[in-house]
Amino acid sequence: MAEENRGTTTQAVPHTQAKQNTQAKETTQAKETTQAKPTSGENANRKPNHNNRNKNNNKQDGDKPKANNNKNNNASRNANSNNKNKNRNRHRRQPTPVDENLKTFVAKNQEEHKQRLNPHFKLDLNSKAKIRITPLGGLGEIGGNIMVFETEKEAILVDVGMSFPDETMHGVDILIPDFAYLREIRSKIVGVVITHAHEDHIGAMPYLYKEMQFPIYGTPLPLAMIGNKFDEHHIKEHRKYFNPIVKRQKIKIGNDFEVEWMHMTHSILDSSSVAITTDAGTVIHTGDFKIDYTPVDGYTTDIHRLAAYGEKGVLCLLSDSTNSHNPTPTGSELSVGPALDRIFSKAEGRVLLSTFSSNIHRVQQAIQYGIKYGRKVCVIGRSMERNIEIAMQYDYVRFPKNIFIDADEVNRYEDKEILIVTTGSQGEANSALFRMSIGEHRHIKIKPNDLIVLSSRAIPGNEGSISGMLNHLQRAGASIAMSKDIHVSGHASMEEQKLMLRLVNPKFFLPIHGEYNHVMKHRETGMMCGVPERNILLMTDGEQIEVAPKYMRKVKTVKTGKTYIDNQNNHKIEDDIILDRQKLASDGVVMLVAEISEQNSTMLSKPKVTTFGIVPDKMDKSFAKEMEDVLEIFLTNIKPGLIENSRALENDIRQVVRKHIFRKMKKYPLIVPHVLVH
Ligand SMILES: [Zn+2]
Repeated sequence: MAEENRGTTTQAVPHTQAKQNTQAKETTQAKETTQAKPTSGENANRKPNHNNRNKNNNKQDGDKPKANNNKNNNASRNANSNNKNKNRNRHRRQPTPVDENLKTFVAKNQEEHKQRLNPHFKLDLNSKAKIRITPLGGLGEIGGNIMVFETEKEAILVDVGMSFPDETMHGVDILIPDFAYLREIRSKIVGVVITHAHEDHIGAMPYLYKEMQFPIYGTPLPLAMIGNKFDEHHIKEHRKYFNPIVKRQKIKIGNDFEVEWMHMTHSILDSSSVAITTDAGTVIHTGDFKIDYTPVDGYTTDIHRLAAYGEKGVLCLLSDSTNSHNPTPTGSELSVGPALDRIFSKAEGRVLLSTFSSNIHRVQQAIQYGIKYGRKVCVIGRSMERNIEIAMQYDYVRFPKNIFIDADEVNRYEDKEILIVTTGSQGEANSALFRMSIGEHRHIKIKPNDLIVLSSRAIPGNEGSISGMLNHLQRAGASIAMSKDIHVSGHASMEEQKLMLRLVNPKFFLPIHGEYNHVMKHRETGMMCGVPERNILLMTDGEQIEVAPKYMRKVKTVKTGKTYIDNQNNHKIEDDIILDRQKLASDGVVMLVAEISEQNSTMLSKPKVTTFGIVPDKMDKSFAKEMEDVLEIFLTNIKPGLIENSRALENDIRQVVRKHIFRKMKKYPLIVPHVLVH
């Protein structure tokens, strides 16, 4: 205990003092400069007493006004050396008497700063309680966020998100976290807490709920979107687990958890951070956030509640690291408006704007400027239509009903009267905009005077597909607007991360949401904001961290991973299928059927050989001959007894064929031998 206690205290004190000292110096200096101007007589007794530099200056300097620039006075000093002697005799300075009472107040203020800035003093250090935190996704990766908070007897989950596969995972549409650990602690779980409605925070909910169910706590928009997913997955009945909450109202979950949702600004409506209070203290999980002082709906980040927790004392902060490399403050969503206005005002034909379908405020702004310039609005793209519908159904946004038209009505209007808001800003092959770009959309064909506005950024990995789509669009004659000012991020950059750290003022800090380099950069920012390095841990998926008022440490690693999902049927794809697909994609497949005589171990006919992705068609015959030779040599040297054991026989054939192909082609295709023994 003493270790931790002392450690934190000593760390925080020098930090505080250092700051005060600089401030004190600055103040003193400012005073000197202003006070040095008036005549010498008045100032003789006002010399600050605690600054060595001043003592020296005052010894050398006369008190003539000209000579009193304390900072840069060498020239003056020489020039006035004659006067100086006279002055010294006339006005010899006495050290200013120290007001001992004032001095005690300096100490008292220093103590106050120490109390204010050191979170350690605000925690119940006698508490034996602790909380365990385990990310099952979202660390060491972007997306797939899911975090477990556990006391001795109970557990809650914060968010259950999905992520996207990379190009090696053939035929996989989405990834969901491996629920193995949740199965293990299933009986402890008392609820699921949702921060916001992005796919990487709610996308895996239907998959979890098909297997196990718990009460779900969240604000209306995330619950409405989860509800939609449940409907799509034919598990409507699980809507009964919904517990809508009101921000700022604390909710008891199980016996051990008290949770408060605090409003956050982000690139989706109705986002929250959560304060989770247990006997061990309060842990704040920011969810995804940025600090937008002028959000489109006027609902600013609830910095007051964050500060209130910071004032009371926060055990641990888990904060969004996505933009931790960005030193420029993230722009307000409202700042996109003027750029859209400029673009819309100049557009002569149709405007097709594409953005992330969940960014309702962006869509809202686009629609507003569409209306301003007399355009009708056509929303195309399933997810976009659904999200706008939900936002309107639940009164998050309001539009006049008569401004919307259907895709098949677009051609009835002049080009200048049309705004199309659509999905596909990432160049996704099945998106509306992509299909328009290649002329495969049923209602909308790209025209030469169309203006395409990409109000988004490329998610890393999507640059290629976006570029491909741009080529198609431009070939069709459209012009493209994709300047920087028509998009802002939804994530806090460094300065906002600092504000979060200073508001919450946590004892321990766990940077979350991001790859290793993001959380590592966020650690640096945390250290700049007064969190000692040893009070920060960089987690990776599966690492379980135990936090108590006196310590934070890694305790164990639990099983994590990804489950592959095929969106066509919403089913899991087994790992070995993905491995086979990878092998097929990179090395091809060789199938051979051979008939062998049991009596004399010879081939009864030529083997049938079929290959895919390993030899060109024109070489099929010669390759079949090669295989025949390989089998013949194999059979002449066959081990006794092998012929009766068909599985071992096929295995051995696979080995010799593999060896031969590798020697010749440096490839390891999938080899499928099928042996008939007569
Ligand atoms: Zn988000």
